[in-house]
Amino acid sequence: MSATETAIASAEAHSAHNYHPLPVVVASAEGAWMTDVEGRRYLDLLAGYSALNFGHGNRRLIDAAKAQLERVTLTSRAFHHDRFADFCTRLAELCGMEMVLPMNTGAEAVETAVKTARKWGYRVKGVPDGMAKIIVASDNFHGRTTTIISFSTDPEARADYGPYTPGFEIVPYGDLTALREAMTENTVAVLIEPIQGEAGVLVPPAGYLPGVRELTRERNLLFIADEIQSGLGRTGKTFACEHEGVVPDMYVLGKALGGGVVPVSAVVSSADILGVFRPGEHGSTFGGNPLACAVALEVIAMLRTGEYQERAAELGDHLHRELGLLAGGGAVEAVRGRGLWAGVDIAPALGTGRQISERLMEERVLVKDTHGSTIRIAPPLVISKEDLDWGLDRLRTVLSA
Ligand SMILES: *Cc1c(COP(=O)(O)O)cnc(C)c1O
Repeated sequence: MSATETAIASAEAHSAHNYHPLPVVVASAEGAWMTDVEGRRYLDLLAGYSALNFGHGNRRLIDAAKAQLERVTLTSRAFHHDRFADFCTRLAELCGMEMVLPMNTGAEAVETAVKTARKWGYRVKGVPDGMAKIIVASDNFHGRTTTIISFSTDPEARADYGPYTPGFEIVPYGDLTALREAMTENTVAVLIEPIQGEAGVLVPPAGYLPGVRELTRERNLLFIADEIQSGLGRTGKTFACEHEGVVPDMYVLGKALGGGVVPVSAVVSSADILGVFRPGEHGSTFGGNPLACAVALEVIAMLRTGEYQERAAELGDHLHRELGLLAGGGAVEAVRGRGLWAGVDIAPALGTGRQISERLMEERVLVKDTHGSTIRIAPPLVISKEDLDWGLDRLRTVLSA
């Protein structure tokens, strides 16, 4: 057996099969490239679902992590540490908000957003105890906890995990009329992704996000934007909401916030809203730890200059132009997305998204299928134009075979 086959057989024997990875075993990575255990190099067009916006082994991020590793890595929130205030201040500033509640994974940040909205509903809005409702969208992806999958519309993500957490109302994504009709006096928040990543990089119709903003303001409820995948440069702006000139009441961040080094997530909002928490009412042992703060501070510093956003916008224009040409040819049925982020619907006759991903892997390009015949392209924002073009060439080869 090859080193690849041995590693995969062993992983299959000793790990739960809750994933179906492509048959490549990565040993090292740099920038937009990964090298497998047999020395083959692959172009990474997934970037850890946007957790690797700044590329593999980014020098600034690795140096920040190394320096912090030598000082102090964990204190728990029982004590203050000297990176915490800076992290919260800078992140709030980047978001144009006032307060930060740090967690670790995206799902934890979404859970935090849900708890915040409910508490705000009872304490500030005056919703009767136990009656708070949160409106979410169909085809959402907000994480994997029991509460979050309770309001998923994906049977794979949801089946067999009941009893489900009540208090959520699901309306079709992009439909403002349905949203308005679902709102009652007990609604405390609308939780949506400004672009739905897992659903296939679905961009809502123009005017949807401003409409959500208007309705939530009118009805005195919170607009929570899950920007865990869409945020922090991916779409050519710091936040996907910016494309529509919208500022939500709360950002939920994760993935790229940890620079591909450590899991870092956060809820960022106003003092009115995050001010509902008192000591002991919510928390996490690892949330806001010194190592996480040090890496995230460097991520925030990198985003402050706007250079990554600009790069994502420029390369994104190029990516969408090239994919647009493919869409005329019959092999590609539709292309969606913004910035360096695209969902590509392959003509089903050419194979499933999985089969296309496997053929691309043979061409040394790594992507991930979403549902059906859709593949998602989301390279690290540091990818060179030459490498991106090389990847697009490989895609053309696979689609014309
Ligand atoms: C990935 C993701 C999450 C969940 O993040 P985890 O770190 O995997 O828990 C939540 N929302 C969106 C939009 C995501 O893309």
